[in-house]
Amino acid sequence: MIDFTFTEEQEIFRKKVAEFTEKKIKPKVREMEEKKVALPEVVEALKDEKLTGIFIPKEYNGLGLGYTERLIALEEIAKVSPGVAMMLQIFGLGIEPILKFGNDEQKQKYLPGLAVGEKLATVAVTEATGGSDPTGIKTTYKKEGDFYILNGRKIMLTNAPIANTFVVLAKDSENPKAFSTLIIEDTFEGFRRGKEWHEIGLHGCSVGEILLENCKVPASNLLGQEGKGMRVAMSAIGEVGRGGMVGVALGIMDTLLKITVNFSKKRILYGKPISNLQTIQNKIAEMRLDLEIGRLLGYRATSIQDKGQRSDLEFAMAKYFTTEAAQKAAKMAVDIQGGYGVTEEAVVTRFLRDSFVLGPSAGTSDIMKVIIARATIGK
Ligand SMILES: Cc1cc2nc3c(=O)[nH]c(=O)nc-3n(C[C@H](O)[C@H](O)[C@H](O)COP(=O)(O)OP(=O)(O)OC[C@H]3O[C@@H](n4cnc5c(N)ncnc54)[C@H](O)[C@@H]3O)c2cc1C
Repeated sequence: MIDFTFTEEQEIFRKKVAEFTEKKIKPKVREMEEKKVALPEVVEALKDEKLTGIFIPKEYNGLGLGYTERLIALEEIAKVSPGVAMMLQIFGLGIEPILKFGNDEQKQKYLPGLAVGEKLATVAVTEATGGSDPTGIKTTYKKEGDFYILNGRKIMLTNAPIANTFVVLAKDSENPKAFSTLIIEDTFEGFRRGKEWHEIGLHGCSVGEILLENCKVPASNLLGQEGKGMRVAMSAIGEVGRGGMVGVALGIMDTLLKITVNFSKKRILYGKPISNLQTIQNKIAEMRLDLEIGRLLGYRATSIQDKGQRSDLEFAMAKYFTTEAAQKAAKMAVDIQGGYGVTEEAVVTRFLRDSFVLGPSAGTSDIMKVIIARATIGK
């Protein structure tokens, strides 16, 4: 039987995260909008609540919960601050390759610190020449004794300004078809942070670049097998990366729907609330329907993932649907507020900007369709 209702424990967890968000994140939203970057006190609050280690097993200091609980938490936080949810989602994306592909020594070394937020992670794949096509990256590695020497520049990295643990995809300097994934700490020789990037939305989450200039990485920091790193990075992005984007999108859609229902009940035109108008009702019905479908797709994917089964196709569908639906919901929510909807201070305007940043993150909608079509055709 298929049942997507939360268990009692999951419902308790959801309420706990909602209360935490109301108390610790909501009062910071205005400041995050102004400053645009991750606020240290918000990062501290996430650590104190142990949300940095949701799906890390208890033996490594984590909460030992599943990917479904991760989605629940991201959705709850994104209802208030999609930017903070994005920051947390990418901490998780940086953790996943170590959890899934790390050897015992690497797990012991990194996971306990990542679980409690002493270490903060991100994944560094994207470059000027490699986004949708990661084989286009130019960062190279070369083995020299007990070290790999890396050279290159990674851009558009969520958390780059605040993370200290980077899971980096690089190409063999002598074999452009071989890729490896390595764990790089910000204290390693030859590591440097580059400029910060400023997106139009998801404020409260910092984005930036890193530069690797003869960066000396211990050979013991290779994740998985040398030359097989594309699978390490893509498997994490395909499931945990896209799953995280679903959580951010669902939170945005939920809040937009609530705001829209409230507004349309209060806004009086022709002597009656506009919620009486059929065209407004049609938009509300579409927003509700999309949210329900998005949740079904998202939680179906995490339920498969929690069983330890491959779920990248399900996440591609959920990521495509929810991020497109969040943009659609944001446009409708802005439209329904008429002239009020396009003022800078309108909350719907903030969510509209946030919804547009979801598109490229963890792979564009075009790429999601390529994945879905290939799986359907059987390529
Ligand atoms: C907020 C944000 C956070 C991010 N965080 C990270 C991070 O933490 N780590 C990281 O490594 N990267 C990160 N990225 C980068 C992200 O993964 C890339 O933006 C994404 O993969 C797209 O690459 P691109 O921006 O280079 O666009 P391009 O790859 O240049 O795409 C340009 C256009 O071509 C289209 N296109 C490309 N290929 C095809 C195709 N086969 N068929 C049809 N259309 C196609 C695309 O859909 C797009 O419309 C982040 C991006 C954003 C916006």
